Parts: sequence; structure tokens; C-alpha cells
Amino acid sequence: MRLLKDRIRKDGVVREGGVLKVDSFLNHQMDIDMFVEIGKELRKRFAGEEINKILTIEASGIGIACIVAQYFHVPVVFAKKTKTKNIAGDVYTTQVESYTHGRIYDIMVSKDFLGPEDKVLLIDDFLANGKALEGLAQLVQDAGATLVGAGVVVEKGFQRGGDAIRARGIHLESLAIVESMDAATGEIVFRED
Ligand code: 5GP
Repeated sequence: MRLLKDRIRKDGVVREGGVLKVDSFLNHQMDIDMFVEIGKELRKRFAGEEINKILTIEASGIGIACIVAQYFHVPVVFAKKTKTKNIAGDVYTTQVESYTHGRIYDIMVSKDFLGPEDKVLLIDDFLANGKALEGLAQLVQDAGATLVGAGVVVEKGFQRGGDAIRARGIHLESLAIVESMDAATGEIVFRED
């Protein structure tokens, strides 16, 4: 997606350790006009697919998922991160290793909001090692729901997540795939569409 790549080149900041900061339009301040274009693009890429629910993970996936959902006319459910093992009520839960925080946490979704009748599109801001998407896919499987695919805004193609998700046969659409980036020069190279 040309508009997105141009914006990442203009405003993205490359940090040591393979972290791309896009706080000015995606992860802290949110450019809703850009989100709208992302929503339209993902609608196109999943055209013809039957989807009745979007599933994301708190916190940074929620904003983008909500705007994307306007183009699918479906509800958004976000997996909650929880510190307590002893969760009240009936929930699906699994563990996710955080790339940015370097720790393992539990995520959960209420059984009230995910079930066998659901055809689910996963949405997230970044795809790095794929742990967040794999955790969400696990919740979908545990719920007996159907996983239609996953849409991410930025995939870091130099990490293993994209290959791992595709190898599982999941329809993955990444709107910008970063092939390489350099913290010293700030240069970001994208995979061509
Ligand atoms: P994964 O689970 O695929 O390893 O990492 C995905 C999650 O980590 C995303 O939900 C995102 O919040 C965070 N993340 C991973 N890499 C980056 C990055 O380079 N920049 C930002 N802003 N977030 C990242």
C-alpha cells in the first residue's frame, strides 16, 4: 500500500533491536484518515470472504480494528491481557510472548463473544515473530470458530512471523512489509507488492 509505505518512510523511526516506531500516526497519535484507507484496502483484499467478526489484541490493535470494522460491518472483539490466572467466568485463554516487552502474558476472550458460528478476521498493527497472531488464532481454534485470515498494517519481513503464519495456511495480508531497516541511517526498505 503505497500511501502507507510513504508515510512510514517519512515518519517512521528505526530503533536498535529491530523496532520500528510509528507513534505519530499508528501507535500513539492515530491518523484516522490513514486508518480509513487501511480499512478500505483490507476490505478489498478480503473481498468475497465471509467474515462476521474481527478479533484483535489490546491495546494497540483496537484503534485500527475499529476503523477496519466499519468496512466489514461486523463487531470487534479484543483479547484482553490479564495477569490473573484465576479469571472469573467462562473464557478462552492462551499465552503470548510479547516482542516489545520481552515477557509472557495471558490473553483471554469471553466465551460470550467467540463461538463456533464465528468467521473471524484477525487484525493487528505489527507482525514480528507472530506470537500475537498465533495466540489469537489459538483462541479462534479453541472457540471452534473459523479463521478466515489475518490483516496487519506492518509486517517485519526479516522476522519469522509472516513465514510462520503463511506456513500454517492462514490467509495473511500485510499492507507494508519491511524487508530491512537500519537504525544508524534510518533507511527502511520495503518488499515490493
Ligand atoms: P509478534 O507477536 O508478531 O512478535 O509481535 C507483534 C506485536 O508486538 C504487535 O502487536 C506490536 O504491538 C508489537 N510490535 C512488534 N514489533 C514492533 C515494532 O517494530 N514496532 C512497534 N511499534 N510494535 C511492534
